[in-house]
Amino acid sequence: MDQNLRVPDIFGCDVFNEKAMAAYLSAPCFQTWKECVDTGSELPLDAANEIAEAMKNWAVDKGATHFTHWFQPMTGITAEKHDAFIHPTGDGNVIMEFSGRQLIKGEPDASSFPSGGLRAAFEARGYTAWDPTAFAFIKDGSLYIPTCFFSYTGESLDKKTPLLRSVNEVSREALRVLRLLGDEEVQRVKVCVGAEQEYFLIPNSMYAQRDDLRLTGRTLFGAASAKGQELGTHYYAALRSQVSEMMKEVDQQLWRLGVLAKTKHNEAAPCQHELAPIYSEAGHACDSNQLIMEILKKCAAKHDLVCLLHEKPFAGINGSGKHNNWSLTTDTGRNLFHPGKTPKDNAQFLLFLAALLKGIDEYQDLLRCTVATAGNDHRLGGHEAPPAIISICLGDELTTIVNSIITGNMFLSQEKGNMRIGLDAMPAIPRDTADRNRTSPLAFTGNKFEFRMLGASASIAAPNIVLNTIMAEELCQFSDYLEAADDRNVAMQELVCDTLKKYQKIIFNGNGYSSQWKEEAFEQGLHNYTTAWEALPHFIDQKNVGLMTRRGIFTEAEFRARYEICLDNYCKTVKIEAKTMVDMVLQQILPAVLSYSASLATGAKEKEQMQLPNHAEVDLAQQISESANRLYRSCCLLAESLEAIPGEKEAAAKYFGNEITSQMHQLRQHADLLERLTAKTHWPFPTYSDILFY
Ligand code: ADP
Ligand code: MG
Repeated sequence: MDQNLRVPDIFGCDVFNEKAMAAYLSAPCFQTWKECVDTGSELPLDAANEIAEAMKNWAVDKGATHFTHWFQPMTGITAEKHDAFIHPTGDGNVIMEFSGRQLIKGEPDASSFPSGGLRAAFEARGYTAWDPTAFAFIKDGSLYIPTCFFSYTGESLDKKTPLLRSVNEVSREALRVLRLLGDEEVQRVKVCVGAEQEYFLIPNSMYAQRDDLRLTGRTLFGAASAKGQELGTHYYAALRSQVSEMMKEVDQQLWRLGVLAKTKHNEAAPCQHELAPIYSEAGHACDSNQLIMEILKKCAAKHDLVCLLHEKPFAGINGSGKHNNWSLTTDTGRNLFHPGKTPKDNAQFLLFLAALLKGIDEYQDLLRCTVATAGNDHRLGGHEAPPAIISICLGDELTTIVNSIITGNMFLSQEKGNMRIGLDAMPAIPRDTADRNRTSPLAFTGNKFEFRMLGASASIAAPNIVLNTIMAEELCQFSDYLEAADDRNVAMQELVCDTLKKYQKIIFNGNGYSSQWKEEAFEQGLHNYTTAWEALPHFIDQKNVGLMTRRGIFTEAEFRARYEICLDNYCKTVKIEAKTMVDMVLQQILPAVLSYSASLATGAKEKEQMQLPNHAEVDLAQQISESANRLYRSCCLLAESLEAIPGEKEAAAKYFGNEITSQMHQLRQHADLLERLTAKTHWPFPTYSDILFY
């Protein structure tokens, strides 16, 4: 590690950012690019050619030999295929070449990426198209060009395109509302996202010995360690040197790539940590989070560690989430979720708040679907992760204000003879009151909303697409209503009041784990889809398809493709886990316990001959043999059940979620009991206490 590091010198040094572009491009070309980014218009080919040449020169100056289009297919991770810049000159030599066409468009063979039926296997072609709003960067000797990914017929095959569409959509509709509120200055509304990333770091040597971790990312077996996280000694504790060294390297690599890595600390569970960047615009935040996950994994490996991004690597202790902090900010620097000091500011704040409450209530099932994965099923509903019921925590102060608006007159104020909504002096809302309620799925934290349901391994695209889109939809409805009104001030007042009244049921500040809340939520008609397979079919409810197509985020085919992929992923994940369990039982756990019980039996027999008391051996051998028989039967049953998977997709998901999952649970219980009874010397892989307290 460089001890004399000056962060400002290295920050963004591997990014072809505005500064690098200004240095490598002619002034007119730089201007053309900037206009394209600001207006969303297409880049002329001659400008693309100049940018390509400049980008290549910059990259080659920095030692790059290859370029790759970098995209985010529906696998949830990133994809890259590298081509060298070399071009033969005919005399046995090469020059380094890169054209505008190569920059703007790529044609990766897309046949092996999930398409959810959007692309028949015989039509493998996919296209990647440069996203000029995202900067190219250099990593591992290659120039990375952020791109969007399309099918031959123009359908989006990635996570980035719909995210960018949703950002534009919410900007457009927010702008409309702001104009109605009298703002003529704002030109664009930005979506700001800060995604806090939780992860586990465990020794590579132990990871390598566990097939479950290697194949599925989580432990499928493991008796609880005598000590867990109950003493609270890991949270914010001093970093182990090995971990600290690794984190330093992560920070430096991220800074070079222009990622605003800011906060790092130990999390609540043993071996668990967090990295939070400073928030940035949604597209950039999405790219940054992908880089964070990748670099965490790579740096961990260099330090003999493995980074686990699974939502629940270990049962019985906290899982890992990705808190998605989300807000809307104008290009003039105003946060639209910032409660104001004047009645006018308050009116704006309350209008945006009302829109969000309405949107979340109406599309709670859709938001729930964006976090519905097999891995997150193990995390939601316990150990500081939110429950499956979507609600919004506003904190006591804001809730009091909302209630007083609903019930009456507290918020009315006179301004220039007109009634205006807002409060003359809205009480200051402390920033962190709602932040402390760790069980809330969506918490207002002063000037942003923190969505806490997302699992640690997932792309942040899906929940942000939904948040942006529902906001666009509700703001559009509000604008329509206000535009048609005779008296806009009175209409706005009624609109806020009526909306808050109707949708207040989505507000909940209490303990999300209590049975009382479950009952109350049920009575209010809130959905409680506790598992992914129960939630996912609602993804394609007509109301949700209607929203996404109406707002131009997805075509119906694109949207259904996402559903197919989610369902398919769910089934495949559970299937891999079940098969891994069967293999581990037959090839590792059973041989170990059978050999141990045989040695106990032999010992007991020898003692009997010597007329020594052998009660311990006999009793243990007895218990182990019985448990081993149960384990074996359970394992055979699971193996058989895996042969009887229904053909139809929804039925298969249900089968995996009910039948297979409960058999896996059964099997684990037998194995975990055996782990407790078996000598540590015989147990075939590292235990929870070995791994978590190495
Ligand atoms: P914590 O949740 O740990 O108390 P903060 O709430 O201050 O910390 O910040 C968590 C994340 O929220 C960071 O990534 C931060 O940059 C981001 N954040 C802060 N303000 C905003 C905002 N207005 N919009 C979006 N994200 C924000
Ligand atoms: Mg936070």
